[in-house]
Amino acid sequence: MRWGLIGASNIAADHMIGALRAGGGTMHSVLSSSADRARDYAARHGVESACSDLDQMLDDPDLDAVYISTTNEKHFAQAMAAIKAGKHVLCEKPLAMSVSDAVTMVRAAEQAGLVFATNHHLRNAGSHLAIRDLVQSGRLGEVLSLRVFHAVYLPPHLQGWRVDNPAAGGGVIPDITVHDADTVRFHLGEDPVSVVAMATQSGLGKGVEDSVMSVWQMPSGTQVQAHESFTHRFAGSGVEIHGTKGSVIARNVMTQQPVGQIELRIEGGVEAIEFSDHNLYERAVGLFADAVAGKGRPAADGRDGICSLAIAMAVAEAARSGRRTDVDYGG
Ligand code: NDP
Repeated sequence: MRWGLIGASNIAADHMIGALRAGGGTMHSVLSSSADRARDYAARHGVESACSDLDQMLDDPDLDAVYISTTNEKHFAQAMAAIKAGKHVLCEKPLAMSVSDAVTMVRAAEQAGLVFATNHHLRNAGSHLAIRDLVQSGRLGEVLSLRVFHAVYLPPHLQGWRVDNPAAGGGVIPDITVHDADTVRFHLGEDPVSVVAMATQSGLGKGVEDSVMSVWQMPSGTQVQAHESFTHRFAGSGVEIHGTKGSVIARNVMTQQPVGQIELRIEGGVEAIEFSDHNLYERAVGLFADAVAGKGRPAADGRDGICSLAIAMAVAEAARSGRRTDVDYGG
């Protein structure tokens, strides 16, 4: 598959170009708002051509699919243009700045018969696949609650628009709560109905929240507690799922790397759970390529991206208003 990179970004350089190549893809073109940056990025990463005009990039019959990793406020217009040009789309999270825009782009891709995926990496991790298997196996019994802790320290090279630019989609809620929303949905197989939340600035955020805690009500009655932050240097991440027959305790699994530890606590003892250490992004790209070839569906599709955004938007609104907020999935 010949890929166009929309956005000369860190995530493409650090993870996705390698994953796209591992999936047999070629880096056909890269788009930046700056022609110089596009040329420089193309040269550094072995991309065949560089451009700064989206229509020109998309008006290329050799291009099969695009990977969108610009700042969040650009995703909607760029995805709509790519869909109009007949390209398959792998889009970064959050899909858009509003649920209605996300719904519009996902519906447009469906109507055009194109594959549209959301780059939620965590559900591709061997750790999370193993956790979900445990939940589905019934070994936990009835699930009572889930706690996700994803309070980390944002590396200095990423402390740009994320910490000071609300118009570009900055803030920890669009950045990390969306990932936790997707992960919770993946494990529990249901979508929260309403949320309460409090957000704050704890040292990095200027004009945007850098920390948030929220509690979600699931249709089954399972309670979910989530904590995301950019400012916690030593907390470590994890997820715990507690059921009537057992608890799964996973540490250091809310990460881009195939790492972490999982244990199952049940009557009679503690069991270490083994899991695959495959690359998260390569799995996502592989499933995307299969979907383009007519086999199966992406790991996280457009509907998954709408839901994770809707939950994050509800958390943001609950924190802003101080009220319990229903999640609006956009119909
Ligand atoms: P970056 O800040 O690296 O890139 C975003 C945009 O910023 C680029 O498209 C580029 O614009 C511009 N930019 C980057 N570096 C420079 C520079 N030195 N000077 C001027 N402009 C620059 O963003 P990230 O890679 O951190 O995130 C991009 C998207 O990917 C976001 O939507 C984010 O939420 C998502 N993301 C997803 C992850 C995942 O695991 N799924 C992980 C990390 C990010 P231009 O293209 O116009 O040059």
